Amino acid sequence: MEKKYMAEPYKIKMVEPIAVTTRAQREEAIKRAGYNTFLLDSDDVYIDLLTDSGTNAMSDNQWAGMMLGDEAYAGSKNFKNLKKAVQDLFGFKHVIPTHQGRGAENILSQVMIKQGDFVPGNMYFTTTRAHQELNGATFRDIIIDEAHDSTLELPFKGDVDLNKLQALIDEVGSERIPYICLAITVNLAGGQPVSMANMCAVYEMAQKHGIKVMMDATRCVENACFIKQREAGYGDKTIREILRETFSYADGCTMSGKKDGIVNIGGFLALNDDELYQKSTALVVVYEGMPSYGGLAGRDMEAMARGLYESVDYNYISHRLAQVRYLGEKLDAAGIPIVKPIGGHAIFLDARRFYPHIPQDHFPAQTLAAELYLKSGVRSMERGIVSAGRNKEGQHHYPKLELVRLTIPRRVYTYSHLEVVADSVIDLYQERETAKGLRFVYEAPVLRFFTARFEPLG
Ligand SMILES: *Cc1c(COP(=O)(O)O)cnc(C)c1O
Repeated sequence: MEKKYMAEPYKIKMVEPIAVTTRAQREEAIKRAGYNTFLLDSDDVYIDLLTDSGTNAMSDNQWAGMMLGDEAYAGSKNFKNLKKAVQDLFGFKHVIPTHQGRGAENILSQVMIKQGDFVPGNMYFTTTRAHQELNGATFRDIIIDEAHDSTLELPFKGDVDLNKLQALIDEVGSERIPYICLAITVNLAGGQPVSMANMCAVYEMAQKHGIKVMMDATRCVENACFIKQREAGYGDKTIREILRETFSYADGCTMSGKKDGIVNIGGFLALNDDELYQKSTALVVVYEGMPSYGGLAGRDMEAMARGLYESVDYNYISHRLAQVRYLGEKLDAAGIPIVKPIGGHAIFLDARRFYPHIPQDHFPAQTLAAELYLKSGVRSMERGIVSAGRNKEGQHHYPKLELVRLTIPRRVYTYSHLEVVADSVIDLYQERETAKGLRFVYEAPVLRFFTARFEPLG
């Protein structure tokens, strides 16, 4: 008999109790939080799918490594181990640890960007674009058009449109493009992967024009697993082999270890170019710490080095993707509108189609996130009009996508937890007409989604 799903390739050695709450308690909690899931106390959350960032469960091997922290100010053993892991798995020459991914983005943007430059990328990411802009660059989206349509099923929906890249080079000139920022996978497109063929083609075009390629490697292991499962010629390759080929099409990368590094904190910048490395070491001491610790304790570097090795185990990474797919397929089978295809780290509910009677001004995705919490204590995140903010004239941006993200932490929850999540979403869908929408009672001028407060309409 074919297995319905792959069981967890790990067993549980230590447990953390989670809050089981009553409906009355959740009503109190969500009211206190202004109907914003970001403002809930984690004590009041049953299954926390707010983010996959830093919420990973470390292994016994990683925890053992934590005890071997060499907390010397400079040249610690753990830095050597981390450097060796990155050189070994990614193939880059130089490695600079940073406190998390954005620390590496800050340094890379400062050393590479001049005022008036353009940085093309396959869809923006919030912190990545912010650092590019802070350093005087304009971001240009060069992802394929299909990535912006939540209903199109494509195996590599994160691919770059080479015509868009060529058009930008023709328009502004290659000397104003310090690098192409290639995200693997593309978070804001729903965790969609980039094909090896596309990475290779982007690198060739970049080299021809003397432009560097810098990857956002945050979810590079998920990307490699999708390549193994979907791209012709890669089925028999190991994740390690696929990763090495991936990074042969790049001059460097930034990495948030809080995602595919399977740690709770940490990141790094990796580079081949000696001069860029020299410049980066001069900046890391200003923002992070010595180039041999970059804001991390020795034990944190050890945990990340070990986490990186664990991440390339096919049993681990294929199970992760299978868990996400399991939740998505269960929802899909029940007719719940979700973003397709199912990506690597999260399921996105389409709140426009879930609550067609709630106008976007009444925040359907924010409403759905609050209702899901009320129903079962599951915490999700709004990615719609509230996250999009207001324009200079003070009007709401009206994004095409009005989504609720259910993000799966690594190695934290079992299929039983995902069953609870699926069942509560399905129950909510059956009573969807009763949802009424929300109105603002407090709104911050920037990044309002973090702290906004609401009250129910009607
Ligand atoms: C999380 C993330 C980052 C930033 O990393 P932090 O560790 O949160 O600073 C950069 N790029 C992508 C795609 C991410 O998901």
